[in-house]
Amino acid sequence: MPFFLSHRARCSPLCLCLLWLGLALPATAALPQEPSSTIVLDVDATTISRKILSARESFPVASPLAHTVDLVYPKWIPGNHAPTGPIADLVNLRFTADGKVLAWVRDPVDMFRFHIPVPAETHLLVADFSLVGAYVPGNDFAPGNTSTPVQGDVNWDQVVLYPADTAADGVTIAASIRLPDGWSYATALPHPRQEGGAIHFDPISLTTLIDSPLMCGSIMREFDITPKGVSQRHLLDLFAQSPEGLSVSPERIVAFRNLVGEAGALFRSHHYASYHFLVEAQGEANDGLEHHQSSDDQVPELGMVSASFAAEGGTLMAHEMIHSWNGKFRRPAGLATPDYQQPMVGELLWVYEGLTSYWAEVLATRAGLETEAQLEDRLALDQAELDRRTGRNWRNLQDVSTSAQLLYSASQQWTILRRSTDYYREGPLIWLQVDSILRERSKGARSLDTFAAEFFGPPDGVIAVKPYTYDDLVAALDHIAPFDWNTLLKDNLLATRPTPVSPGLEAAGWTVVYTDEPNQAAVDAESTSQQTDLSTSIGLLIDPDGTIVDIVPDSAAGRAGLAPALKLMGVNHRVYSPDLLRQAIVNAETQQQPIDLLTLADGYYAEFSVDYHNGLRSPHLKRIAGKPDLLTTILQPRRNQ
Ligand SMILES: [Zn+2]
Repeated sequence: MPFFLSHRARCSPLCLCLLWLGLALPATAALPQEPSSTIVLDVDATTISRKILSARESFPVASPLAHTVDLVYPKWIPGNHAPTGPIADLVNLRFTADGKVLAWVRDPVDMFRFHIPVPAETHLLVADFSLVGAYVPGNDFAPGNTSTPVQGDVNWDQVVLYPADTAADGVTIAASIRLPDGWSYATALPHPRQEGGAIHFDPISLTTLIDSPLMCGSIMREFDITPKGVSQRHLLDLFAQSPEGLSVSPERIVAFRNLVGEAGALFRSHHYASYHFLVEAQGEANDGLEHHQSSDDQVPELGMVSASFAAEGGTLMAHEMIHSWNGKFRRPAGLATPDYQQPMVGELLWVYEGLTSYWAEVLATRAGLETEAQLEDRLALDQAELDRRTGRNWRNLQDVSTSAQLLYSASQQWTILRRSTDYYREGPLIWLQVDSILRERSKGARSLDTFAAEFFGPPDGVIAVKPYTYDDLVAALDHIAPFDWNTLLKDNLLATRPTPVSPGLEAAGWTVVYTDEPNQAAVDAESTSQQTDLSTSIGLLIDPDGTIVDIVPDSAAGRAGLAPALKLMGVNHRVYSPDLLRQAIVNAETQQQPIDLLTLADGYYAEFSVDYHNGLRSPHLKRIAGKPDLLTTILQPRRNQ
């Protein structure tokens, strides 16, 4: 297949050993290999419900001389944007050569690299190891987070070693996997065949293997969501905790089919042979991981069937699918690394994630997975969150993108001051601004849809990685409609500015207002997270057990001296509950007295008086009189045009 990857693999003196293995090669092309150089990987997932996976991996050795082989465990995982390979949970590691146990050592600096002394006349180096599924904070795709007694999610990067300093495209692996009796599975890996109690796959590159997770379970249903006239098959493979979790309504299936149609209409191409939405309905939150030909979607137990999760879950799945174009086919050069050890550069994540999030909202609405009213509430919520994020005063969005590897695993406490991966919220508002300007300057003839087809689109059917730079992006926008895009983008990316600011919404003809009407997107988000979000009123975000997660510094709670990690024990001299606090906020609207809060932390009780009388306030979008409503125009379906 054509491959545009321009990097070269790093190479060390030990690379000579890899040449003996026949595996080290330049990253510019996938060269044909001798069959004897194929690595064989056999994964035993029969104990996945106990959160443990075991593997045996066999490496052909070509050199007859005694030498040292370096093998590495994947560290930088695509889509994670961080060095999240769960190396601490790699256990029972043993290397043998022709049955003899070898004394390996870990590199003292690189914890993901192993040095293995291979004796003379060795033909096959065998690695045996297991991955235990401890819960890994910040990695929603570790087996400790995804495995249950009835389902599991195998990400191959967690159960594979490969030759160090070697381009992933040049490593060929023949993989097989054993599953618990009676379990079904789904994966984008081609040509599976049952043999000897295991599922075997054709030899493929390490890149394709790691890009093709396998989801499995005993409660599973597959939905064909291929629109009429589309040649690539699109499947929704749903794994649930109970049969109730499989009862997706026919209307929702139609909406997912519409989503596929809308994606095709937007990008005018498909960069996969077929596409699998791999959905595991078992978690507490919505999270997803993108791949070229599939997405790994984690949703709550009833996430596919409950109305309250519909918009959030639908948008998540749209987001991960859009990554097949924006993130997999076209990828920022800094993220297009030749292997899984080289650090990734996240400076363009405001495109990779921000533009994907924008199109996810737009396509989910065009497809009917969420209504325009739901989208408006979600945009209002995003803007409101940015408005109170005082960390924007010291840290710009460019720094947030550059330091993404620190932020994914950062504590939720103090997020308002630290900032988080804000390109998921701020990015869509920037791209709404870009879309609005494109439409205005071209009098409606061109838009970000035009850009989608030109930059991320044809040739149809090409499965490849085509890296791009910031300059490529600006030039492509200029080709759609001449404008000083560099200044506009830099203004958004580099500014540290007092809140609020909403140029994206204003460009589309909308602004944010606060009323005492609940924001439905906020209600749905609280239903998923079980947190109590009072950040737009007294200024607190509270965990289900009463612990304050975050505080808005310039709010009544902030001025009263409250802080994250304090646990709320009492409200106006009664035992704390979320409902009691909400009622106290409503009552205080017509009273002079402050709201009295009792907290406990570090063995000390403390009392706080919160002088707040503005009631429960929620953000909503409102039209700006006299400005064209470009948002409604943007959300019009296109699949049947
Ligand atoms: Zn994403």
